[in-house]
Amino acid sequence: MTKKITKICCIGAGYVGGPTMSVIAQKCPDIKVTVVDLNQARINAWNDPDTNNIPVYEPGLPEVVAEARGRNLFFSTKVDEAIAEAEMIFISVNTPTKTYGTGKGMAADLKYIELCARQIARVSTTDKIIVEKSTLPVRTAEAVKSILQNTGNGVQFQILSNPEFLAEGTAIEDLHAPDRILIGGDPTEEGQEALNALVDVYANWVPRERILTTNLWSSELSKLTANAFLAQRVSSINALSELCEHTGADISEVARSIGTDSRIGPKFLNASVGFGGSCFQKDILNLVYIARSYGLQQVADYWEQVIIMNDHQKRRFGNKIVKTLYNTVSGKKIAFLGWAFKKDTNDTRESPAIFVADDLLNEEANVSVYDPKVSESQVLGDLNYLHTRPESKNSELITIFDNAYDCCKGAHAIAIMTEWDEFKTYDWEKIYNNMTKPAFVFDGRNVVDRKKLLQIGFKVYTIGK
Ligand code: ADP
Repeated sequence: MTKKITKICCIGAGYVGGPTMSVIAQKCPDIKVTVVDLNQARINAWNDPDTNNIPVYEPGLPEVVAEARGRNLFFSTKVDEAIAEAEMIFISVNTPTKTYGTGKGMAADLKYIELCARQIARVSTTDKIIVEKSTLPVRTAEAVKSILQNTGNGVQFQILSNPEFLAEGTAIEDLHAPDRILIGGDPTEEGQEALNALVDVYANWVPRERILTTNLWSSELSKLTANAFLAQRVSSINALSELCEHTGADISEVARSIGTDSRIGPKFLNASVGFGGSCFQKDILNLVYIARSYGLQQVADYWEQVIIMNDHQKRRFGNKIVKTLYNTVSGKKIAFLGWAFKKDTNDTRESPAIFVADDLLNEEANVSVYDPKVSESQVLGDLNYLHTRPESKNSELITIFDNAYDCCKGAHAIAIMTEWDEFKTYDWEKIYNNMTKPAFVFDGRNVVDRKKLLQIGFKVYTIGK
C-alpha cells in the first residue's frame, strides 16, 4: 500500500529547493514541509517577515511564501532534526562543475550530494524515501544508494529521481502548471510504492496524465537531455546570427519564418549574446563527460560544440564593442544594462555579462552596471570568482548604479546584457543626450526598438542584423 506522506524535508534552500518546496507546501496544506540549509544568512532571509526580502527573486514567490510559511512551510538550519522526522527527503543542494582533479571543468562535483547522503544515513532511524531534485549525472542514484544501503542499522531507503524543469523567472507559473512532472524509480515493488507516494504528492494539483514515471536512469538522463536540447537551439540560432550579419539576412525574420513550422515551433529562437544560468553549461559538460567516459567520442564532440558556439558568441560580442569603438575602449565608459543571466531573476550564475565585462576590463574599459535586481557585491563577486586580475583592480574599474540614467551618463557605449522589460520603456532620448558622441548601443538581447534608436541618433548594433 502506498504510504501517505505527512512530513517532507528539503536539503538546500536555493533557486530550486526554495520555490519548489514553497509551492508543494502551498498546494498540500496537510504536509509539513521543512526546507533546511547550512547557510544561516540564507535561512534568515527566507524567514524575513517581509516576504519581498526572500533570497530568490521570482515573480509571485513572495505571495506563495506568505500564504504557506508558518502554516506548513518552515525554513531552518536544523538539518538533522528535519531529516529525522521526515518520511520523504528532497536533495536540492548545488552540484557545480568540478574545479579540481579528474574531470576538472567538466564533471559534476558530487561532494555536496555525498555529504547529504552520509548525513541522512547517520541520523535516520525510520525508513525514508530520498528524492534527487538537483540536476545530477546519470547513475548518481547508484552512489547515493550505496552509501544509504550500507549503514547496517536496518533502515530502508528508496531512491527516486525527480528532476526540476522550472525556468527561472517563471518558476511559480511553471510549478503551478507544469508541462510534466518526471519521476524515476526502481522497478521493484518497494521502488514503485515510493514512486507512487511522490505521485500522490504532486497529484494534489497536477493532473495525473502529466505525471510521467520512468526508471531511475531514464529520469536522470532526461533532465540532461532537455537542457542540452534547449541550449542547442540557442547555439543554433546564434550560429546563424553571425551568418546573418554577413549576408544581409535578419535573424528575427529567419527565426519567425522557421518558428511557424510546427515541427520546429517558435520558442527558444531568440538570438542573443549567449545563454547563461547554472544549468545549461553544467549539464552539457556533464553529458560530454559521461559520453567520453564511455568512449563515445563523436557523441561527446557533438554536444561540446553547443558550448564552444556559446563561448564564441559571448567573445564575439565583446570584440564587436572594442572594434566598433575604434579598436580601443581603454579609459572609456561602457554602460551595462542588465547583469542577471535572464530577466525576472536575480541569479547571475554563468551570466554572459560576466564574461563580456571581463573581456572589456582586459581592454582597460571602465564598466558601469545597472541591473534592477542584482547588488554591487554580487557583480564584484562574479568577477572576482574568475581570478582574471586582482580584486582591487575589479573594484577600481567597475561602478554599480541604482538607476539606468546615471549608469549611462557620459558613456561611450551601452551594452544591453539582459532582456529586462523596463529597458524598453526608458526615455532613450534623455539617455542619448547625456552620452558621449557618437553614442553606441550594443543590444545583446534584441530588446530595444532599433528604428527608434537610430532615429534619435544612436549608432546601433543588434545581434544578427
Ligand atoms: P540550485 O540552483 O540547484 O537550487 P543553489 O546553490 O541555489 O542551487 O542552492 C543550493 C543550496 O544547498 C545552497 O544554499 C547550499 O548552502 C545548500 N547546501 C549545500 N550542501 C548542503 C548540506 N549538506 N546541507 C544543507 N544545505 C546544503
